[in-house]
Amino acid sequence: MLKGKTALVTGSTSGIGLGIAKALAQQGANIVLNGFGDAKGPQSEIESLGVASAYHGADMSKPAEIEDMMKFAASKFGRVDVLVNNAGIQHVAKVEDFPVEKWDAVIAINLTSAFHTTRLAIPAMREANWGRVINIASAHGLVASAQKSAYVAAKHGIVGLTKAVALETATTGLTCNAICPGWVLTPLVQKQIDDRAAREGISVAQAQIDLLGEKQPSLQFTTVDQLGGLAVFLCSAAADQVRGVAWQVDGGWTAQ
Ligand code: NAD
Repeated sequence: MLKGKTALVTGSTSGIGLGIAKALAQQGANIVLNGFGDAKGPQSEIESLGVASAYHGADMSKPAEIEDMMKFAASKFGRVDVLVNNAGIQHVAKVEDFPVEKWDAVIAINLTSAFHTTRLAIPAMREANWGRVINIASAHGLVASAQKSAYVAAKHGIVGLTKAVALETATTGLTCNAICPGWVLTPLVQKQIDDRAAREGISVAQAQIDLLGEKQPSLQFTTVDQLGGLAVFLCSAAADQVRGVAWQVDGGWTAQ
């Protein structure tokens, strides 16, 4: 379905981003990976699916590096057809104790980076009259939790950005949508489970059960494969008129 097209996925050296990159590669898209840590492993996983890949290590909190990454992607593959804004971090603290530099980092990486990639990707998508912008928001883009003020603000913000971009591009072949996962067992969430186990003096297994029980009625984690499947659907012709949605994949979290 995506043969000959190029997908750039931010924060795709692990977790959800890597899962979505693989799902898009399985549909034939060439992939531009981004994120910290080892990129060789993820790149060879992508290339084993029979597509080309490239990696750019831009720090999503730095606009100049984001610009450089977008130029790099265009120089490698011509243009970005599918942009997945996925890079994200978390910090947990009460608002009055929230470190100012952590607030700035969460907003920069989880929200402002998507503004930069989107503004830079859209002109070529308009020219081709086809494109997909997929923003990885969260259940926290729709509802809040205590101690996550920066994350909740950034995720609500990216849902708003999604709607505004969808309206600006509504008459074109370019769509913009958000995916709102509930708990997914990635390094980002494993850290919260480990912190909870240490804080409450319980086992990691118990902390995992408690974490799910608090928010996610299905009591099961959302998987990266499920999110990859939804991203593929959003790239399909069946989704041509899906515009500006914030699509929950949260085991019932936000239905409560
Ligand atoms: P993860 O920690 O496994 O992956 C995050 C990725 O972002 C990594 O590749 C990391 O290197 C990259 N990254 C972090 N800071 C970066 C920076 N400054 N510049 C470039 N890359 C950077 O996390 P994940 O759980 O896969 O999260 C991915 C996205 O999904 C995030 O936006 C997160 O908020 C969202 N999300 C996750 C969950 C969950 O339960 N795991 C739920 C809802 C939404």
